Amino acid sequence: MAIALFQIRNHPKGLYILFFAEMWERFSYYGMRALLVLYLTKHFLFTQDAAYGLYGAYTTLVYILPVIGGYLADKYMGQRKAVAIGAALLVVGHGLMAVEGEAVQFGESPDMAVLNIFYLALAFIILGVGFLKANISAMVGQLYPKTDLRRDGAFTLFYVGINSGSFLGALWAGYLGETYGWKYGFGLAGVGMLLGLIVFLLGKPLLKGAGELKNAAEVQAKRFMGLSPDMLIYIGTAGMLGLVWWLVRDQGKVAAILWPVMFIVYAYIVFRAVVKLTPHERDRIFAALILISTQVLFWALFEQAGSSLNIYTDEAVDRTMFGWEVPASVFQSLNAFYIIYLGPLFAGLWIFLAKRNMEPTAPQKFGLGIVQLGLGFLVLVWGAGSGVDMTPVIFIFLIYLLHTTGELFLSPVGLSAMTRLSPANMVGLIMGAWFLASGAGNMVASQIAQATGSDALEEEYNVELVMEVYSRIGWIAVAVGFGLVLISPLINYLMHTKTLKDDEPL
Ligand code: GLN
Repeated sequence: MAIALFQIRNHPKGLYILFFAEMWERFSYYGMRALLVLYLTKHFLFTQDAAYGLYGAYTTLVYILPVIGGYLADKYMGQRKAVAIGAALLVVGHGLMAVEGEAVQFGESPDMAVLNIFYLALAFIILGVGFLKANISAMVGQLYPKTDLRRDGAFTLFYVGINSGSFLGALWAGYLGETYGWKYGFGLAGVGMLLGLIVFLLGKPLLKGAGELKNAAEVQAKRFMGLSPDMLIYIGTAGMLGLVWWLVRDQGKVAAILWPVMFIVYAYIVFRAVVKLTPHERDRIFAALILISTQVLFWALFEQAGSSLNIYTDEAVDRTMFGWEVPASVFQSLNAFYIIYLGPLFAGLWIFLAKRNMEPTAPQKFGLGIVQLGLGFLVLVWGAGSGVDMTPVIFIFLIYLLHTTGELFLSPVGLSAMTRLSPANMVGLIMGAWFLASGAGNMVASQIAQATGSDALEEEYNVELVMEVYSRIGWIAVAVGFGLVLISPLINYLMHTKTLKDDEPL
């Protein structure tokens, strides 16, 4: 992180503000997430199945809502205001999580009133992320002219902020929650978010107008049924809180709305691009949609980390290091750890290559990222088949290393590409679609994880089955990744980099 901060010195000061605000937001998000399943199974005595179901519904909804938050920011409120509202909703949500009530004893059912407060807390958090996540990322893009070579590097540093938050949040909120009591862990997440909100509000002057609506006065003067856009957004948010509060308890319903929502969002974006944009702007949106679609595959495989890979590490890996048997969950922090150290190197590398005209294009980076993801699985399959009983732990280090370098080739680069490819009045929407696709990836990830496990409780852990699935998805990723590299000139053509004009200075 220190190297990352050192590198930020070559960037606008606003990047500091967004780096720290997002770091605290992710601190609260991942801190709370680290505790969630444990809290459900140990405090409310949910079965594992029910707990995973709720976890799936929650993590999917969290990535569906940014598309609405992004759209509202583009059209009616500007990103800065949306981020501030999102952060405030998150503080309330994390605060409500600290209301834990009596723990359930065996044979009892949970107190419905407390459970309903808990669902409401989740709804506040989901809406908070919905207002915040896509918009804060869009704001990073607004700090740079469209042709600025520092853009991919800037997003890579921002990504280090994300992962510093996730690393520390999971560690501290997890520790406090499990050792001293749930409410302290959740409470710490809330305090983290409050710090993020304060940094963001105080840092406004350094943002130099990023995230402000250009036609704010005109928009504010509009009336719909006598109500101002702001008023309508507040009323809509209250209604949405109720809807999400009801939806989050049912994974089936969330899965059922996910694909139709994706379809509608894609169709709307294509419609706007065709009807409202110039041919080059329209092509750029098509390029963005192709890149967005690859996200589903990427996260579906990458997110095995928390589920099937975690269990594989627990069951089939020799985790003894320096005479100590390291618990499987510890390996969960490897990804964030690698990013904190490798991110600044990558940020520097992209700028180094760009200055020498040697930087791979965004679609090439995407393809190579997906190849690395696939190679990670293949290396593990190779290690597991090397004739030993338990897989040597080095292969777990290796798979997470390849997954992290793959992630650095794709995820921050993708955020950067989204901000470059969208016209200013669509950037929140496109960024929202980006997260929506990663939400779909998370949903598919849980289905792949289910394919690696047996349905019956008493059945033994089946290493061959897991390896069969990993080898298949590994090869698929390598093939898709190379395929993407092959068609990258076409996607790159659609990006019309030569005619990309800088926005008006802020
Ligand atoms: N880990 C990153 C974050 O939390 C990326 C998440 C995603 O795109 N699904 O922001």
